[in-house]
Amino acid sequence: MTLSPEPFTDLGLDTRLVNVLNHLGLTTPTEIQDQAFPIIVSGHDLIASSKTGSGKTLAFLLPALHRLLTTKALNKRDPRALILAPTRELAKQVYEQLRTFTSGTDLNIALLLGGENFNEQIKVLRKYPQVIVATPGRLANHLTARSILLNGLELLIMDEADRMLDLGFAEQLNQINDAADHRRRQTLMFSATLEHAAVNDMANTLLKAPKRIAVGAAHTEHGDIEQRFYLCDHLDHKQALLQHILTTEPYQQAIVFTATRPDTERLANWLNAQNVSSIALSGERSQGERNKIMDSFSRGQHKVLVTTDVASRGLDLLQVSLVINFDLPKQAEEYVHRIGRTGRAGAKGVALSLVGPKDWEAFKRIEAFLQHSINFDHYAGLEAKFKGFRPKTRTQPKRSAHQAPSKSAVKSPKAAPKVVKAAKDRSDRHNHANSLGSSDGMAPPKRKKPSLQRSDEGEQDL
Ligand code: AMP
Repeated sequence: MTLSPEPFTDLGLDTRLVNVLNHLGLTTPTEIQDQAFPIIVSGHDLIASSKTGSGKTLAFLLPALHRLLTTKALNKRDPRALILAPTRELAKQVYEQLRTFTSGTDLNIALLLGGENFNEQIKVLRKYPQVIVATPGRLANHLTARSILLNGLELLIMDEADRMLDLGFAEQLNQINDAADHRRRQTLMFSATLEHAAVNDMANTLLKAPKRIAVGAAHTEHGDIEQRFYLCDHLDHKQALLQHILTTEPYQQAIVFTATRPDTERLANWLNAQNVSSIALSGERSQGERNKIMDSFSRGQHKVLVTTDVASRGLDLLQVSLVINFDLPKQAEEYVHRIGRTGRAGAKGVALSLVGPKDWEAFKRIEAFLQHSINFDHYAGLEAKFKGFRPKTRTQPKRSAHQAPSKSAVKSPKAAPKVVKAAKDRSDRHNHANSLGSSDGMAPPKRKKPSLQRSDEGEQDL
């Protein structure tokens, strides 16, 4: 993580916040914190992107709390600040940081998560918390039930906005926006990427003349994380590699990402049977169970957490020095989030990805997203026969025997340059594949049968 040269004390933060920073040994803001503070403190709306593990949470939490501690509430009963996060785990983690920084103040705070007792939350809301951290679905339910009013809201903060939109929370965000209609409301939107059409649409609706900050684009290399890719043939091969990695690579704790929920349980059980202490976390567990699992993992009771993308965002687990993509994520950006579970706060991390035939398309998307070609590593004795597929070339649609060739195909002089260009594009792609092939030592990939091509989708069926 990049730290700014100026210490926290130069930012003019409320002394109660500076005291907590001192207590935590945090002396210097990170780049995103340094850039975001003056914008937020001066009351502007903000849309910001920042790499995972860059200190994003404190980038909004500290100036937000500074504003609340140094100004009078617009309305005594309604919450003053609302922080929305896409997953319960992330919301909980933001809440923990909020609790740390409000401990020496008289700010009353609350956490509202889906899957937890609604009536208990109503009781909490009757105590008029000034700062609320919530998942959007549950907050919207409270609005519908009129157990919360947001007319006096001064700060609306959306963490991982792109993820909230990907998870289908656009309607709830609009509902929350409509309910929090104070003209002096300040809105902050944090997203892993600003190149997300839905995020930009939402920003146009929710933010007023926002300032923009992009610190480290999502695809930039994460210098603290060593990334390695391994080809593999099938599920058994993947498991053999997984076992080899978890028993030979050095690590404190590891997270293994799988494509499906059932695979989390299955693999965790299998790893336990191989004497690798593991626990599974998936979205289908109850909130209580999810909390227990995360608590026991973060207290170091298990070496390995096997999970789906539910745990890929935001979670700050400092003991995790190894991330393994047992299956590659469908979205390339998700890859960046997953590997960002390690290499946190300047620590070194290793991210290993297993690439089978069914991961190939996802692998090519990740390669395109990272904007460089990727070479494969191998473990002696565990090499794969699979060497990747050649890029698909567009085949001409078959013409039936009785169908005459189209006029343009026969002799449109204007069409000629296009044909040449298309041929050039194909040859460029081919050359790229060849250069990749030679750098990876790839054998010419087998010609694919149509059925094999379709089975590329969804490692989950393995
Ligand atoms: P985040 O990107 O918010 O998930 O934060 C990642 C990690 O960086 C957390 O462990 C924070 O405690 C840590 N962190 C945040 N701000 C700083 C800072 N200014 N100096 C050092 N570490 C920090």
